[in-house]
Amino acid sequence: MNRLRVAIDGPAGAGKSTVARRVADALGLLYVDSGAMYRAVTWWVLERGIDPDDEEALSKLADEIRLELRRDGLSVRVWVNGRDVTPMLRSPQVNRAVSAVAKVPAVRRRMTELQKEWAARGGVVMDGRDIGTAVMPDAEVKVYLTASLAERTRRRMEDLQQRGHCVSAEEVRTELAERDLADAHRAVSPLVRAPDAHLIDTTGRDVESVVAEILALCRPFLSEEAWPGG
Ligand code: C5P
Repeated sequence: MNRLRVAIDGPAGAGKSTVARRVADALGLLYVDSGAMYRAVTWWVLERGIDPDDEEALSKLADEIRLELRRDGLSVRVWVNGRDVTPMLRSPQVNRAVSAVAKVPAVRRRMTELQKEWAARGGVVMDGRDIGTAVMPDAEVKVYLTASLAERTRRRMEDLQQRGHCVSAEEVRTELAERDLADAHRAVSPLVRAPDAHLIDTTGRDVESVVAEILALCRPFLSEEAWPGG
């Protein structure tokens, strides 16, 4: 079995999940979307009517929430208190509140613990903000994906429109910029490029070429049989 671990970090809308899923599929690895876990906690916070800025309430909730990842083919679905919440995680409400929830140390501790358990099995592509720095600092392949704010805004708009949400470009741009700022400046595990992460700017590039670049980075760690088409 292929135990390769690939960590993909970067700001919101850089194309991490699309690229990570494609790399995982090409190599037969499991794709774990760590952002979905923070989104799931946030969804539950909003459901319960808790203020996302109330750190004390969030710390308590982090201890109580029953959050599980369940494997579904080559990816995972997120379950909260016995319910599959995966389809609920990409709303504008969750987008706005998630960074406040993700900065709470008790929340990060719980999520990181779970993510490390999945990483320890190997054979995984995980994307997020702190995967190459905190969750899998010893991953064989580390990538930091980025793109201009204008391009990230355009992609996120398309994504939200496809899901039937009506938002203006200005709203999306502001939300992305604020989220990046919050993620990059929090005290625990901020968004930062690991010194050994391969930097890829996806502005103006198609998905295929970015995936091919990452697969090439994985090549030295794969046997002939594990290489797509090999
Ligand atoms: O990747 P995605 O945009 O779904 O992540 C949502 C939010 O979850 C991020 O803006 C960040 O606040 C938080 N997050 C994090 N650490 C990760 C993944 C996501 O703090 N590893």
